[in-house]
Amino acid sequence: MSNYVIDQPARVSLPVRGSDARFPVRRIYCIGRNYADHAIEMGHDPNKEAPFFFQKNAENVDTSGSFPYPPQTNDVHHEMEMVVALKSGGANISEADALQHVYGYGLGLDMTRRDLQGEAKKTGRPWEIGKAFERSAPMSELVPVSQCGHLDKGRIALKINGKERQVGDLNQMIWKVPEMISYLSRFYDIAAGDLIMSGTPAGVGPVVKGDVMAGEIEGLGSFTVTVV
Ligand code: MN
Repeated sequence: MSNYVIDQPARVSLPVRGSDARFPVRRIYCIGRNYADHAIEMGHDPNKEAPFFFQKNAENVDTSGSFPYPPQTNDVHHEMEMVVALKSGGANISEADALQHVYGYGLGLDMTRRDLQGEAKKTGRPWEIGKAFERSAPMSELVPVSQCGHLDKGRIALKINGKERQVGDLNQMIWKVPEMISYLSRFYDIAAGDLIMSGTPAGVGPVVKGDVMAGEIEGLGSFTVTVV
């Protein structure tokens, strides 16, 4: 018997390659403008900015392979990203120690209601309405570090209906994985179950119903999400 006054909400989790066990999700930290070419395409100078993060909700994770076109928008964009999954955490973690906290890596899409995000930017309001909506974080299974090692270089790309739209290399990240973990841990108690979406290369753009988004990251493989 539980001692909750309502039914306990289900715990969100991700599948793990080669295992029946699942990875429970706590928080999702997302870095903005982490590839210079993408910062430039969004109208920013990549050289002048400290890193910044926003969050999605664990409940926004979706592994169904479908992305329902969301309400209240006419401009939903794809952002193909590498997902970093943490097995432990803490505060004030050094860059040298940061990778010890990584459980594994996966593929993810930071789906964005760009029109609503643009309004929020213009009016100085929070980004949640553009970023943290239902099923806005399609993800693949996680690949444990024991299988894929640590990924600091390699192709990251997204095709839509077979046509390449986004392409970059993990080595183009302005803030590397150990730097992101260390930076976040100065502001938050990061912990087991946390995910970091590590930013998107250039080439973001809109999707429409029926589009098939196929993401790939060298060393992890690929995943496919259909807009429905
Ligand atoms: Mn993003």
